[in-house]
Amino acid sequence: MSEEKCIFCLIASGDIPCAKVYEDESVLAFLDLSPVHPGHTLVIPKVHYKDLLEVPCEFAPALLSALKKIGVAVMKATGATGFNVMQNNGVSAGQTMFHVHWHIIPRFDGDGLGAWEQGNYPDAAAMQTMAAKVASCLEK
Ligand code: AMP
Ligand code: ZN
Repeated sequence: MSEEKCIFCLIASGDIPCAKVYEDESVLAFLDLSPVHPGHTLVIPKVHYKDLLEVPCEFAPALLSALKKIGVAVMKATGATGFNVMQNNGVSAGQTMFHVHWHIIPRFDGDGLGAWEQGNYPDAAAMQTMAAKVASCLEK
């Protein structure tokens, strides 16, 4: 999608309204239109990157600082006792908006939101084989 048509770029430029909670030089945060819980916030770089793989590593300090600040504020504002930071890459992973964004989702004890369903490796050797395979795919 071109940046001119990207909804999150249009939000960042002020051409589309949002419920803004935080802004600095490089980051904008606003409420998700369809919250998992009220206070569910999206954190975006003002510059258009499609997904995590396009984001320059230099953005990390600004992002981490914003996630921590906003996470605390969302907990205070909602009375949440925890929060999830989620970020989807690709259609298979549930990405629907192709301007990278981080979800901050307030959580409450016993709020009933499902956890990931987790499984097991057949044995320790299979686990080591997978670890070696991933390691061998790391770019040098
Ligand atoms: P994802 O599935 O990770 O791509 O998440 C995209 C999120 O963007 C969804 O949770 C939507 O509810 C949210 N969303 C889409 N359009 C808007 C908008 N104009 N303002 C706020 N949130 C939006
Ligand atoms: Zn964009």
